[in-house]
Amino acid sequence: MDRPIRRALLSVSDKTGLVEFARALAERGVELVSTGGTAAALKSAGLAVRDVSELTGFPEMMDGRVKTLHPSVHGGLLAIRGNAEHDASAQEHGIVPIDLLLVNLYPFEQALARGAGHDEMVENVDVGGPAMIRGAAKNYADVTAIVDPTDYPFVLRAMDENGGATTLSLREALAAKAFARTSAYDAAIASYMARHVGESSLSWGALSGSMKQVLRYGENPHQTGSLWATGDSRPGVVGARQVGGKELSYNNINDTDAAYELVAEFDPARSPACVIVKHANPCGVAEGADLADAYRRALACDPVSAFGGIIAVNGTLTAEAAAEMVKIFTEVIIAPDATEEAIRIINGKKNLRLLLAGAVPDPRIGTLTVKTVTGGLIMQSRDNAVVDDAELKVVTKRQPTESEMADLLFGYRVVKHVKSNAIVYARGLATVGIGAGQMSRVDASVVAVRKAAEIAAAAGLPESLVRGSVVASDAFFPFADGLIAAADAGATAAIQPGGSVRDQEVIEAADARGMAMVFTGVRHFRH
Ligand code: 5GP
Repeated sequence: MDRPIRRALLSVSDKTGLVEFARALAERGVELVSTGGTAAALKSAGLAVRDVSELTGFPEMMDGRVKTLHPSVHGGLLAIRGNAEHDASAQEHGIVPIDLLLVNLYPFEQALARGAGHDEMVENVDVGGPAMIRGAAKNYADVTAIVDPTDYPFVLRAMDENGGATTLSLREALAAKAFARTSAYDAAIASYMARHVGESSLSWGALSGSMKQVLRYGENPHQTGSLWATGDSRPGVVGARQVGGKELSYNNINDTDAAYELVAEFDPARSPACVIVKHANPCGVAEGADLADAYRRALACDPVSAFGGIIAVNGTLTAEAAAEMVKIFTEVIIAPDATEEAIRIINGKKNLRLLLAGAVPDPRIGTLTVKTVTGGLIMQSRDNAVVDDAELKVVTKRQPTESEMADLLFGYRVVKHVKSNAIVYARGLATVGIGAGQMSRVDASVVAVRKAAEIAAAAGLPESLVRGSVVASDAFFPFADGLIAAADAGATAAIQPGGSVRDQEVIEAADARGMAMVFTGVRHFRH
């Protein structure tokens, strides 16, 4: 139905085009009502305007926090025209209908863009504006809601074509736009607040992102792919600066992220560390005297798989480390920083990408992870449990030696980043066998032990490095068999969360073999 516009409420922060539009309304016989700043702008242009406080009987107060939040305003917007009860209430309380609402909101997004302080951000949260927009848009059957100056001409044209009225189809379209605006506005506030509270809280706002790049394709060539930046500001693959090499692929990004998240478990202030990743699983991880040493030791774990891998280090990439890394084909290297000489060496390899992330992310910060499922998505806080914070409990008769303990902690840092079921054998602060993504924990161990044996044979070693290593398991051993297999392979100590109904059986198996075992109480499934 056409609705004649007789009264308009104008309340805008951005006053562009306001006077012209208001004048055009006034010329069409519309009464103008306005809030403080908007009314002042109209008056100084010589237009007749009523202050909204005349309608409400209240002055604007509390620094403008309360201007229009009053039944006279919201009744005027929400009353259903021609509804006897609504009309009677309006009559009784002296509420006059508002036929057109023009609002643009406090400039929250602009304040964010210019880096305003927190107090200013809070003051830029508009309350009355969105309430009025929602009221007018809900009542689009009767009320015209405008949130965008580019719509002024459409409204005026409709009025001219319909004897001063707007059409239902226009009001409906404007209502859709109005709800889109309040929704985007609230998303901006939600995402800002999520960051303000340290990104550790769950927030749908953090999910809103901006597309950074359309990727050549997704995981496979017949799939599409794109890269998005969200509110997560931890240093990593998305925010990193790329120096050299071609564009990253979907798989590169995924693998680089896995590598950098794992290397971040190693405090750069304590030890240089290096991770080599293939298909989102580590194939070699080591601490070292320096990054070159850490790389050589990580590579030794599985030099075959490392071909075409992704390397992550937790310190400034040195020329010496870079010179080692370019000896075999590698897809991507990610580091917090690199020396000029290291960059020169990497850039000598045309296809090798170097990403400089600025810093190593804090593994304790909890952001979100999201996975789609058919018909929806599942979301969780990321696994930000760090083994140094776990309450470790030695459950066996024998205590781990100092070096076993160091390797157990090392192994547990690594196993957290290996797809489940995961088993990691570690020795001398380096992985010597990794079993990833098996459906049975025993199989994960078998894979790790077999690979270690093959690598020892290829390197001409007298025996597998698993003999004399320690074993880390991402979840409890449900039966003693997994632990017994590890002991048979030569592991002298084990680390695992514990918590199985058969823990006692597993502990007895360890005791019977003279093994030391530590429970962490923290499970690290990763799928
Ligand atoms: P003016 O410049 O006219 O004084 O203020 C216009 C702005 O105030 C608009 O952006 C509008 O969304 C906002 N506004 C209108 N009513 C209220 C209210 O009751 N509370 C708050 N916080 N803002 C309001």
